[in-house]
Formats: sequence, C-alpha cells, structure tokens
Amino acid sequence: MAEILKEKLKIGPASNVEYPISVSYCGNCTMPIEYCEFWPSPEYEKCKKWLEKNLPNEFAKLDVKGESSEPAAGEEEEKKRQKRGGKGMIKANKKKDDADKDRKVCLSRAPRGKKKSVTVVTGLATFSVDLKVAAKFFGTKFACGSSVTGDDEIVIQGDVKDDLFDLIPEKWPEIAEDFIEDLGDSKRS
Ligand SMILES: [Zn+2]
Repeated sequence: MAEILKEKLKIGPASNVEYPISVSYCGNCTMPIEYCEFWPSPEYEKCKKWLEKNLPNEFAKLDVKGESSEPAAGEEEEKKRQKRGGKGMIKANKKKDDADKDRKVCLSRAPRGKKKSVTVVTGLATFSVDLKVAAKFFGTKFACGSSVTGDDEIVIQGDVKDDLFDLIPEKWPEIAEDFIEDLGDSKRS
C-alpha cells in the first residue's frame, strides 16, 4: 500500500508509465481528453462525438466507465417531459382512450314499417349502465316505447338519435360525447 502511494507521489518517471507520455487532446475542446467529461452536457456530447470519430479506442473506454451517465440522460429526458406538461397530458389522455376503446355507445336508426324508424342503442353496458333503467329512462324522456332487446341493446321507438347525443352524456356524465358513435341508418329492424 505504502509502496503504491510512494510511487504515485514520486516526482519523476513512474515505473508503470511508458515515456514519452503521449497526451491525446480533444479536437473539440482542445483539452486533454480526460478532461472532456467535466464539460457540461452539450459540450461533452460534442467531445464524445469527436472522440468517437477520431479516437475510437478512447471513446470505447469512455463508454465502459460512462455507465453512470446513463441515468443522468434519463433524468434529462424526464425533465424535458415535465417541461412539456401540456403535451404530456394529451399523451396520457390518449393512453386512456386506448384503454377505453372497447367502451363505446353506438347509435343507429333502423326502419320500422314504411314511415317510422326506431333508434338502436348499443354499448351502454360497456359503461356499466343498467339497461333496464336506461330503457325506462328513454321511454319516459321521449314518451315512446323503449325496451331492452339484447345483451347490450336498447331499441327506442322513434327517431331520437340526434337527441341521444345530448341526452346520454347528460344522464351519464362518464359517457362523453366522444364515446358515442353514430352508425347512421341500419337496415335491421
Ligand atoms: Zn473535449
């Protein structure tokens, strides 16, 4: 131990060093390359680029010991993301939309007889809406027949599709208008 220390502190040639000492200077910052890493990030990145191009061996060494710089880069990325809070929020919402893509209420109009139509509502159950309650609600609201006709289907006697776009989000706020799709006219009755 003491020997090593003495060797280190000794003035003059060291036994484990080849002379003449060749110092590699960075073509970017002009400092000996061991100093490059002390530059703040953008400058250091430029130094690394120069090293990679001109002294690939030194660059390779850098990468080995530069492992600690990995999390730092992550932090920076994190900061950027935080700065762009607005966009981040949109992204988050988008993800939510993806998760919700199976939840959708579909409205369509189907002919009934020659002049009348019915409105078919499907998908309410994907929002955990009680279909019987919903059918009754529609019947009362539009003063017309309305009944549960399938697993997740309600048929309302009358063409009330346009009204439903307002009524459904009003009655069930969790079903935003974006979740309601207009399937147009269907041939089934
Ligand atoms: Zn440099």
